[in-house]
Formats: sequence, C-alpha cells, structure tokens
Amino acid sequence: MFSGGQDSTTCLFWAIRNFKEVHTITFTYGQKHSAEVDMAREIAGMAGVDFHLVDIGRIASIGRNSLTDSSIAMDQEKPADSCPNTFVPGRNLFFISIAAVYGREMGIYDIVTGVSQTDFSGYPDCRDSFIRSLNVTLNLAMDEQFVLHTPLMWIDKAQTWELADRLGVLDLVREKTLTCYNGIPGDGCGHCPACKLRNEGLKKYLDSKKNQNGQD
Ligand code: ZN
Repeated sequence: MFSGGQDSTTCLFWAIRNFKEVHTITFTYGQKHSAEVDMAREIAGMAGVDFHLVDIGRIASIGRNSLTDSSIAMDQEKPADSCPNTFVPGRNLFFISIAAVYGREMGIYDIVTGVSQTDFSGYPDCRDSFIRSLNVTLNLAMDEQFVLHTPLMWIDKAQTWELADRLGVLDLVREKTLTCYNGIPGDGCGHCPACKLRNEGLKKYLDSKKNQNGQD
C-alpha cells in the first residue's frame, strides 16, 4: 500500500528486499494534494514495480477532516481528548480492505502497510491492535490467509530513516517523497505536524550517524 510518502516508500523498498514480486496500490480519496499521487507513480517507476491507482471517490472523506476539506483549519497539535482533525475516519479500514480484495484477484496475500504505533499521531487505525483485528476479519471475510506486514509498527521516525538508509534509498526517500500536509515535496514546508515529525526524525538519525562515525 503506497502513498508516495516517506513511510510507505520505505516500506516499498523493504518489500522489494523481502519479496520476489511487488505490486503497489495507491488510493485517491478526495485528498487536497494530488501531487503525492504523481510522486507515487514516479517512485514506482524508478523502483520498477507495477503501479495500480484506485479512486475510492469521497468514501474516506464522509467523516469531516482537514485533509479533504479545505474549509477546516488543520490541527497543528493533537488535542488532549480527541484525534487531530487530520484523521480521516476509516481510511486505513477502507484502504487495507480494498488492497486485500485487489490482492486476492492478483493472487497476492502479503500486504505491506507503513502504519506505525510508535509515532502515531493519535490515529487509532495505525495501532497494532487494529491491524491484527483487521487481518483476522479479512481472512474470515474472504476465507483466505492474508498476512498484513507492518515493518514500521514499532520503530520511530529516526529509525524509519535508518531503515531507508540500510535499504540504500535514504536520498531517494528524502528527495522524492511527499509527507507534508501542505503538499510540498522533499523536506516540505517545515512547520506542519507531518513535516515536524519527519524533519525531527531525520535530524535525530543524521546526528546519531555522525556520532557513530566520529567514534569509529
Ligand atoms: Zn509541511
């Protein structure tokens, strides 16, 4: 499952390292920034994998959220008692379910998603308990044996950069992916919550690498 962001791009190269054949599936759901789809297509081309785009219309934006509704100002921080309004209710439920249906058609039962509980920005559908629950539900729904892989579940953003580096794609992820909520590729706008998380993680990783090299 591939959005063209840092996490799923790192997962794409993790999948290429771990599986003989990899297909990507990307969703449009009325998100404000369609640039990420173009970037996803470009990265898939560079990686030499099949790119499959699925338009799920506005199904994932029925619930009001600031990623699909321009009239809502984006939460800059997680409110104490609720999800930030960048949460698209049901998004991962829809996406993973559709990926499983597509996978079944293609004879693919290993599905990789870049969700992470460690840095999760208050999104319940990024938690391990949800993924495990959905895995069981998908198997029951289609009488198949899907395996949902979550290589980033227990690692933070700095470790995600480290993983990209180990996979030999740190520069590619840094320059070619789009994580920014304001739609600016690479290092992004620098001040939205997604940029802060991404850039702080990168700084932490590069600093620790520098210290490591200094000691050698
Ligand atoms: Zn940003």
